[in-house]
Amino acid sequence: MLLSVKSLLDGMAGITYLTDPDGQIVDVGRENWNAFARANGAPELINGGSVIGHNVLDFVVGDDVRDSYRRCFEAISGDRLDYIRLLSRCDSPGVRRKLWFTVRPVRSASSLQAMLVQILVICEELRPPIELFDFATLRAAQSANARLPFLGMCSYCQDVRFPAGSIDGDGEWMSAEGYYRRGGNAKVRISHTMCPTCFELDGQLLPH
Ligand SMILES: [Zn+2]
Repeated sequence: MLLSVKSLLDGMAGITYLTDPDGQIVDVGRENWNAFARANGAPELINGGSVIGHNVLDFVVGDDVRDSYRRCFEAISGDRLDYIRLLSRCDSPGVRRKLWFTVRPVRSASSLQAMLVQILVICEELRPPIELFDFATLRAAQSANARLPFLGMCSYCQDVRFPAGSIDGDGEWMSAEGYYRRGGNAKVRISHTMCPTCFELDGQLLPH
């Protein structure tokens, strides 16, 4: 059976892309990817434009989370794991969204040819829009005032550290909804990091 990688990628559910063994993105599943790009007003992403040729880690925000993803990809490329699946969040202002992020090796005989990434939304819940996830509004507030306090946001679960301006070991981690209930607002600069719960899970579950 001759099956082109392109048609396989295009036929898979969710957002899919293929990287080379070093993590450089070589192709994307066009149909779902383009629908995602259009829905997010990002025409530069159509057909993988602005991501193909770049390393997947370039698009992970937060140093500690990038390190986790790097360890995952290295465990796959180093043949230490058959696959990796991470539960993650990707909210937009009016939607709470949980997703699976899965990485699998693509081997020919015993040598690694590529890594296949699939991102599947497993749960979407509507909610009143929350500005903290409206990046255009956040950017506009930042350019109007460069001295806004930093707000730590967990890259995995998207909880935030209340109050804004708290630093490591300080403040209280809570959902974005809880942050607003306590009087928090979106006049902040988001600083992506890992909350203590996700940090502990990361230590227990991910390869080292
Ligand atoms: Zn977290």
